[in-house]
Amino acid sequence: FAPWKDPAAKPYIEFRNVTKIFGDFTAVDNLSLNIYEREFFALLGASGCGKSTLLRMLAGFEEPTSGAILLDGQDLRGIPPYRRPVNMMFQSYALFPHMTVEANIAFGLKQDGMPKPDIEARVKEMLKLVRLEQFAKRKPHQLSGGQRQRVALARSVAKRPKVLLLDEPLGALDKKLREATQFELMDLQQDLGLTFVVVTHDQEEAMTMADRIAIMDKGQVMQVATPAEVYEAPSSRFVADFVGNVNMLEGEVASRDENRVVITGASGAQITVEHSGDVQPGTHVAFAIRPEKIKVSSKQPVGTGANAMQGEVWDLAYLGDMTVYHIKLDDGQVVKASSLNSARIHDDPLTWSDRAWISFTPDAGVVLTR
Ligand code: ATP
Repeated sequence: FAPWKDPAAKPYIEFRNVTKIFGDFTAVDNLSLNIYEREFFALLGASGCGKSTLLRMLAGFEEPTSGAILLDGQDLRGIPPYRRPVNMMFQSYALFPHMTVEANIAFGLKQDGMPKPDIEARVKEMLKLVRLEQFAKRKPHQLSGGQRQRVALARSVAKRPKVLLLDEPLGALDKKLREATQFELMDLQQDLGLTFVVVTHDQEEAMTMADRIAIMDKGQVMQVATPAEVYEAPSSRFVADFVGNVNMLEGEVASRDENRVVITGASGAQITVEHSGDVQPGTHVAFAIRPEKIKVSSKQPVGTGANAMQGEVWDLAYLGDMTVYHIKLDDGQVVKASSLNSARIHDDPLTWSDRAWISFTPDAGVVLTR
């Protein structure tokens, strides 16, 4: 499933040069973005980056100041929220407290004048979908947080919208439940064949659930890519830093050939890394490398082609599945490295203040100019 790779595929939702200005504040800034049918799409960004505003414009609660939003080729301008084939689920689930679970799910269908037998059938189907059949007669206060969340979900898909918008859908759940619910949401989306657009500030959540993620900052999209691409091939320092942990080795391009670049750091130390993009000698760049791509050892690494630097163990943390090291290099720079404890069995155990080598291969990170 990767319609975005197919040049012939038509986007389902299109944001075309959308800007939203509140007073003198630009919340969404000339943003263009395509989302495909049946995609699970995440808008990820820090608080205030404009992601909810984008969702609210798609739902019709706000109109863009300029630009256009299209759904299945239709310009949505002027179409009121209730006439858009879009439904929105909020973090505060807003279930009716005096109504049973089934009445909550039936509410919107009743309002639409659906015949009673059809409503009953649909409610049953929805209860089954979210595995709450035996809770049909309960009221919201007799449910757990996770169950309430599933009722809200059932209610928001009962009308069979083409697109479901979820604004921080799991924000109110604790960590364990949130993780379980992430997988439930993915299954539900698959079963229903709907397009989901979720807003979250939680990168793990976006990585877990989404087919693609748009990373937002200051009303703009910084990168749109699959979770793996965002992590392995961030396009800028901002994205590299926003998603996961990263070491940013800053320096100047000393020389380059077709596939490799030599970068000189502030201390004069050089690293050789793979890069085929356009970057001229003299350019200031960062080599962004994830902690797990850096090997830590008490011995100087033998072998070919690896970049190696010496320092000492400044900090370390045992996290169960892995150990995280902060290695203070001899030039003063502190580098984060992590190794899986399952892979460490045969390695030498390092501890505080030990002399240590770090090493990484030329393809272990990416060269960033932005
Ligand atoms: P959060 O995760 O905190 O909800 P967000 O990325 O979803 O953040 P938005 O809710 O889209 O951010 O808001 C983006 C910016 O626009 C914020 O600075 C917010 O204060 C501002 N904003 C949103 N709605 C309005 C409004 N109706 N009037 C004025 N400013 C607004």
